[in-house]
Amino acid sequence: MHWRRLKAEILAHGGARPEGVPDRWRDRSTAGPGARGPGSYFFATDAGRVRVAVNPDSPLSLKVADDGTAVITGPDMQVKGWLEKVALHCPRQAYITLSEGCIFGCRYCAVPSGPGRYKTADDVETLVRTVLDRIDAISITSGVLGSVAADEARALVVVERVMQFGIPVGVSIYPTRETPRRLHDLGVAEVKFNVETATADLFAEMCPGLEYELIWEVLRESVALFGRNRVFSNVILGLGETDDEMAACIRRLTEMGVIPVIRPLTPAAGVAHLPRPGADRILHIADIQEEALAQAGLDPSQARTMCSACTGCDLVPGVDL
Ligand code: SF4
Repeated sequence: MHWRRLKAEILAHGGARPEGVPDRWRDRSTAGPGARGPGSYFFATDAGRVRVAVNPDSPLSLKVADDGTAVITGPDMQVKGWLEKVALHCPRQAYITLSEGCIFGCRYCAVPSGPGRYKTADDVETLVRTVLDRIDAISITSGVLGSVAADEARALVVVERVMQFGIPVGVSIYPTRETPRRLHDLGVAEVKFNVETATADLFAEMCPGLEYELIWEVLRESVALFGRNRVFSNVILGLGETDDEMAACIRRLTEMGVIPVIRPLTPAAGVAHLPRPGADRILHIADIQEEALAQAGLDPSQARTMCSACTGCDLVPGVDL
């Protein structure tokens, strides 16, 4: 079985049951699809990396030896690899969530139920220094506490502080119209502004209070500033969109010069009742994405920060073969 099929199966099963895996390998994140969940492991082979969420209901099991070599076993599947050490949130990055809470309530997101605190520039500098010898990038994300403008202002102070480390910085926050220019002025390498859903109607249903067209505007502005292969946007697969709607969204992004990050749904928070997309659908949409990226001359393997550099949660065309 090819790696991309194995990875699609692992994502479609929502991870694996760890069997006797020591806790030191586990990441318990406040961001990303596993936020406030039971945690996850990062499993790698020579072919790629996958974030394996802890899922007691999965038919897959994860076992690890003392030296970190690991095996995932399930129906018709056995894949050998190793577990990777997490820096902050994922391997090789300090990926930091500033505001652990949100004034909005996107239905698929667990961040609004967070503790409602935010990290200052001092907090972030201290955190980055703890992992500086094992990271290639600093990535900054945030819920929205107070107001969009107040949260952006806090993020800019943090970004300015972490630029001192001289490694690529990526930022993904809910933007104002000025956010791309402000981040570019600070020397940020890459940005990710998430359209989240494949259609405007789904966005209105899933993300009350957020502006879909604002995200598209900000993405367009970002490509002009940061360049091709430096602007990303998450789109969740499995919120009720059709394949044609997802394909149209992918092409709209790639034609603008934006790299779509197609994220299989983690059924949680207000969408816990929805099924995970199956492996065949994940692979089919990845094929569409691969073709759209190629036509637009975009290459996710160039990513230096955030999710396209990590690749843990998504099938990434050109990386996962
Ligand atoms: S792909 Fe993104 S959300 Fe997933 S583990 Fe990596 S950095 Fe986190």
